[in-house]
Amino acid sequence: MSREIYTHCHYCASLCGVAVEVDDTGRDIVDIRPDRENPFSWGDFCRKGKAAAGMRNHPQRITTPMRRVGDRYVPATYEEAIADIAERMNRIIERHGADAVGSYHGNPLGHNFGDSNLHSGLLAAIGTGNRFWVGSLDQNSLHVVQEEMFGCELMSVPTDIDACECFLLIGMDPAVSKFGWIEVIPNGWNRVLAARDRGADLIVVDPRVTSTTREARTHVLVRPGEDWAFLLALIRIIVDEGWNRAPEAVPVNGLDEFFALVREADLDALSARCGVPIPQLRDVAERFAKANTAACVTHTGLAHSGTGTVGEWLSQLLNLITNRMDMPGGKRYERGFVDLPKAWAMMAPKSKHRSRLRDLPTVAGFHTVAEMADEILTPGPGQIRAMLICSGNPVVSGPDGDTLDRALSELDLLVAVDIVQRESHRHAHWLIPGTHWLEREGLHLAFGSIMDQPFAQYARRAVAPPEGVREEWRFFVDLALKMKRPLFGIRGVNAIVRASRALAKLLGLKKFEFGPAWFEWLMVTAGRRVKLRDIKARAHGHLYDRKRYGDLAKSLRTPSRKIECAPPALMDECRRLLSLPPPACDPDYPFVLLSRRNRESMNSWMNENAQLFQQHRGNQAELHADDMQALGLEDGDRVRVRSAVGEIELTVTTGNGGLPGIVTIPHGWGSRVFDARTPGRFSQWGTNRNRLVDNRAIDPLSQTPLLNMTRVRIERLDATADAGPDAGTQAASQGVSEGASRTVAAA
Ligand code: SF4
Repeated sequence: MSREIYTHCHYCASLCGVAVEVDDTGRDIVDIRPDRENPFSWGDFCRKGKAAAGMRNHPQRITTPMRRVGDRYVPATYEEAIADIAERMNRIIERHGADAVGSYHGNPLGHNFGDSNLHSGLLAAIGTGNRFWVGSLDQNSLHVVQEEMFGCELMSVPTDIDACECFLLIGMDPAVSKFGWIEVIPNGWNRVLAARDRGADLIVVDPRVTSTTREARTHVLVRPGEDWAFLLALIRIIVDEGWNRAPEAVPVNGLDEFFALVREADLDALSARCGVPIPQLRDVAERFAKANTAACVTHTGLAHSGTGTVGEWLSQLLNLITNRMDMPGGKRYERGFVDLPKAWAMMAPKSKHRSRLRDLPTVAGFHTVAEMADEILTPGPGQIRAMLICSGNPVVSGPDGDTLDRALSELDLLVAVDIVQRESHRHAHWLIPGTHWLEREGLHLAFGSIMDQPFAQYARRAVAPPEGVREEWRFFVDLALKMKRPLFGIRGVNAIVRASRALAKLLGLKKFEFGPAWFEWLMVTAGRRVKLRDIKARAHGHLYDRKRYGDLAKSLRTPSRKIECAPPALMDECRRLLSLPPPACDPDYPFVLLSRRNRESMNSWMNENAQLFQQHRGNQAELHADDMQALGLEDGDRVRVRSAVGEIELTVTTGNGGLPGIVTIPHGWGSRVFDARTPGRFSQWGTNRNRLVDNRAIDPLSQTPLLNMTRVRIERLDATADAGPDAGTQAASQGVSEGASRTVAAA
């Protein structure tokens, strides 16, 4: 008889509750449905959650460690893999130092606390500072601002969505993606729409027409990359008009200093820069400032622009000076079941490591992916010679994938841990199997502090991993032990791990064995808000307390224990931006490249799921109708998109409208998924548009590459060009099209 297991989807931070029906063997998933008894979730989910088993059952799934021998991979045991990797990593460290071993990890690892925690333990054992992560591609601006203003990189303030009466959404498209940044708000977009239908104001700021802007009461067409100027203009108007209000719930520092900067800004110049007329700026400023409750919420459209950190800071200040911080209907801090800022300060003290070549600091403990290729390719002390890539695909997710691909090919050792062999793993010396979230259990200790309600759910394992496949955390621990390097860099931990294993074996009780469960118990107990056993006892999840306000003030970790409104780095960068002339059109590269997400994809890691994309699997370039006409293009034509660093070819289609001069291409496509058992065989859909992005162009504060705002030109290819891999078919080769082309400038 089949049975139901309750867990939550791990693909995005909506954490939708799901009921997984498993067959009577306990090995196969019959169906995945929304868990309608989950008290926090919304009784529904998206196609990605429904189709989650498609990735688990992927035909190219790696189910045993595989070693590269010549141009093929051969199966090996974990013991063989760990012994070889440990020996090679140790040799590299002894010869070249710990920084010669680098690491990169993607979202699937971050969405699993046990694995990501012990991954950090392994990196500390190795002692490397060359750590890179996917967060540097989007959310870094938020981490920088939170560190500067709140004193903790991880201290997010989720939107108090149901009590909000005025939404100002900037650079986000929650109608097709999850709502907001580092905040867990299930069904966020529909809750915004419900609030709107009850009378809430909805203002959406975006240079394009999207499914989200269509629902807005006001759609503000802002110039790409100029959201910061738009926000500063709103603040200037609010301050000039005296519509600002003193924050009631939080102590602040430096507000007068910030207001002095605001008064330096010329409103006409800001309006001209962001392309929003002053009457519309005044209208938005007044509606936001005078609403009973309001929240300004930002997302990737702002973060990818090169000015995203200043923009993020200004959005927080807009909330602050209109008294929205930790107030009903504004941005509320959820203390959670773990005191995350305190735990983060203890477990992850700020890294002092600076990058070798660009001398950049880490953000949230990691360097930017934009530096990875150079750090591998450039000889000298500290050069990266080995990489551990876990659940990540930086060649496709990051900028200038061609250079990074070349860099990865030159490593002495590349170890990839994942469910399938992706584009970034094609040069791997070792492939180590990954597990699917349906095969794991655990409590995400960091997510408790970004929920919009005090909620916790212990995710249950629905099915076991394929026979012999170990969870990632075990691989990380075993590798540290084999390398004889202390886990977490703390002497004695390895001895405790070994002793716990011996005891568990002796008693036949697995619970005595060192693993993620130890941290769950320790951190939930130290959090003193709810008991772990009470969380575990509620299969559908536990709403353990009432929503409360006022915890932000008590949790601030700045030296002043106040919100810092005028951090020097942000003030200086804002002044620098104010001193620059508005960006002019580049005749060589007249279009601005923007990104967007498909409803069924999740960056680069769902596109190969056979259960998704029944209609069309791939990406296209979207252009304004005026630009299509000026370029002589029709829907379905092939174009070459060229930037200063790369070029791609794909089909073009007419976008929904908005500002001309923009080409929108969804990111995350173009990754090959290799069949590790059959050399030369792979599948591929779409085109990697991030090959157009220069890895040297970054936001100076967050170090986020310009995944939006890269300047490109568009050349029409003739009709005889090869359809290429974005045509939605399984391709047998890279399929770069050749064909006569002409360069056409934008209108
Ligand atoms: S991917 Fe879809 S089902 Fe999964 S958590 Fe996000 S919204 Fe929910």
